[in-house]
Amino acid sequence: MSAIPEKIQTWQMVQPTVFDRETKETTPGKLEKTEIPVPDLDKGEVLVEVAGCGVCHTDLGYFYDGVPTVSKPPLTLGHEISGTVVAGEEAWIGKEVIIPAVMPCRQCILCKTGRGNRCLSQKMPGNSIGLYGGFSSHIPVPVIDLCEVKERGDIPLSHLAVVADAATTPYQAAKRADLQPGDNVVIVGITGGVGQYMGQMAKALGAKTIVGIARNQEKLDRALKFGADFVINSTDKDARTVSKEFRGICKENGLPNTGWKIFEITGVKPGQEIALTLLGFTGKLIVVGFGLAKTEYAMGRLMAFDAEIIGTWGCLPEYYPIVLDMVLSGRINIEEFVETRPMSSIEDTFAEAHKTPPMKRIVLTPDF
Ligand SMILES: [Zn+2]
Ligand SMILES: [Zn+2]
Repeated sequence: MSAIPEKIQTWQMVQPTVFDRETKETTPGKLEKTEIPVPDLDKGEVLVEVAGCGVCHTDLGYFYDGVPTVSKPPLTLGHEISGTVVAGEEAWIGKEVIIPAVMPCRQCILCKTGRGNRCLSQKMPGNSIGLYGGFSSHIPVPVIDLCEVKERGDIPLSHLAVVADAATTPYQAAKRADLQPGDNVVIVGITGGVGQYMGQMAKALGAKTIVGIARNQEKLDRALKFGADFVINSTDKDARTVSKEFRGICKENGLPNTGWKIFEITGVKPGQEIALTLLGFTGKLIVVGFGLAKTEYAMGRLMAFDAEIIGTWGCLPEYYPIVLDMVLSGRINIEEFVETRPMSSIEDTFAEAHKTPPMKRIVLTPDF
């Protein structure tokens, strides 16, 4: 079993990329390898030795796109973490765990009314848990929210890092959508890190039909093997054209034109326009992707359609064991969608993932 380290090895974001609006100059961000002291653990806390930490679009947003972190730099990014408990609460030592990306305070009115996933005092590694994040050798975390990993078979512990956030966010989104067996579903952005799990999740929860929309044909073809029944390549198409294609699929396959549940994962304007155009009678649009675009919509349509638009954020820690079980039982495939790289490649990996979204989620494993 692993010992308690002298120091925590970590890659800190010393400075995010800064864009000066006046001079139009960009100052590149800076990641730096460093050592920090192992903190004294409070009651209810443990130290987790990191097995793997996923590189998420959110991390890239903090580093490249001016999205502010709650804890000011220097801090370590990374919130999709799996690992092994090495210190703290006796009963947990030696256990393999997934650390939820969002840990609610469990005190406030939102937490007490089942909305803890959007708790305003929540803690997120790599954002608001002091300076600690997953691109480290170790991380201190509260024990109450940990998801224990049992009987993982051949799946490496590092790969299970993607259960935090990438695979669990879709579960919460499906809950928000009140997804039921037999539902018909559209996923705009089905090829992304979260989108592809949204497709698998909707199918695993019993969706009858899944139409996936995105622009990368190679990834769309893969989506057809993992959840999607039909795909639409939206490259160079406006929302109306996509909508026409969608209606064609419905007509040819005897699918209804009411009650579709539409998940918008892209967070960008073209994706949002497609989702809004597809929203029809008694439909539901669930906004899963984040972005700052202002997208126009005739709100009266909601009234005429008796339709809904709702948002969804993160995932309650109590749902993690359910999603982990779906992964370990093979109902959700992660192995085709994960690649590991040494953590020492973090600078190159960030640059590469920022430039072109990778085919697979990159999980960094500590080597320093
Ligand atoms: Zn993430
Ligand atoms: Zn709370």
